[in-house]
Amino acid sequence: MFIKSIAFENFRNLEKDVFIPSEGINVICGDNAQGKTNLIECIWLFTGGRSFRGSKENELIAFGQKFARISLCFVSEGREQNIEITISGGKRAAVLNDVPKKLMSQVIGSFCSVVFSPNHLTLIKNGPEERRNFIDAALCQIKPSYAVLLTRYKRALNERNALLKDIPRHRELEDMLDIWDEKLAEEGVKISIARNSYVEKLSGPALIFYEGISSGRESFGLEYRSSVNNEEKTNPQALKVSMLTSLNQKRAEDILCGYTTVGVHRDDLSVIINGREARKFGSQGQQRSAVLAMKLAEANVLGTERGEAPVVLLDDVLSELDPARQDYLLNRLDGMQVFITCCERIKGAGNAVRIENGKIFSLEE
Ligand code: ATP
Ligand code: MG
Repeated sequence: MFIKSIAFENFRNLEKDVFIPSEGINVICGDNAQGKTNLIECIWLFTGGRSFRGSKENELIAFGQKFARISLCFVSEGREQNIEITISGGKRAAVLNDVPKKLMSQVIGSFCSVVFSPNHLTLIKNGPEERRNFIDAALCQIKPSYAVLLTRYKRALNERNALLKDIPRHRELEDMLDIWDEKLAEEGVKISIARNSYVEKLSGPALIFYEGISSGRESFGLEYRSSVNNEEKTNPQALKVSMLTSLNQKRAEDILCGYTTVGVHRDDLSVIINGREARKFGSQGQQRSAVLAMKLAEANVLGTERGEAPVVLLDDVLSELDPARQDYLLNRLDGMQVFITCCERIKGAGNAVRIENGKIFSLEE
């Protein structure tokens, strides 16, 4: 999958223009506050997702304007396709291949992209929720039905938690926990198996990318950590029995706490560099490399599952990486269209453009 052109009008500080990237590496350089991240954010919006900066819709419209319009022409599944997005009145509306779509979610899955920005370092730095969300979001892109599983699990969890809070005042309700334990275990097994299998698929490419970025100097590993003890990670029956046993063992504690202390909503993904947890012991550069390797691996797995590689967006990734790590990113990401931003121009690295005050200039080699 690759982008042929992107047009923007009134999008943040970007001047009305049409940008034609190359099919390989695109380096977008410019001083601070010129519009580099705005361009990356603009491309990301075509995936149908929300701004990775957590921005509200109206914040995307250029100051003083009433609407913003962006359009993308890209090649996927062997044919040229287009998406147009108009933002106004706090809402986004999309047209996919000339057909208006009522909901942004109807666009998800047409244009696929993986984004890395400094915000994503929280994937290592923060608690397990970020890492579970990373796996869940990736699985939703590969298999939209996974989102249904998550919703069912969350609903059962909320019901069980509400019941746990009522039990101290109404002991007779305790028997009803069995119903929700069963439901949690049933959906939890499917989620756990899907996540385990995804992490297994991700581990190989993540290791290769990490070794590439670190020039093979450091070892890297990913491991799914279940809050339920079970050796049989792929056997649904055995897993269900373990989940039910754990829920039962924790029942008294759960009633005291007023929430469910065990289950897939408490699982984590361990990111290990040189045998130690990256979150606790990794340097800033190692953590950055780890997130980067995970994002590139996400692109790789998504590419394998869908049959074509997604577009890779790397914002501000080069700062804090030493020259060998930079070289890997700029020269050895074959077969993917990549957009990478940086402050300094890097000679000889892909197609280079410069952004100045929202205007894009081509830089001839
Ligand atoms: P850095 O190297 O510091 O990350 P950048 O080139 O990535 O800089 P951007 O985040 O793209 O910079 O922002 C560029 C400019 O866009 C900022 O000066 C910001 O004030 C401006 N900007 C943000 N939102 C809007 C908007 N809605 N309308 C007009 N300008 C905006
Ligand atoms: Mg930026």
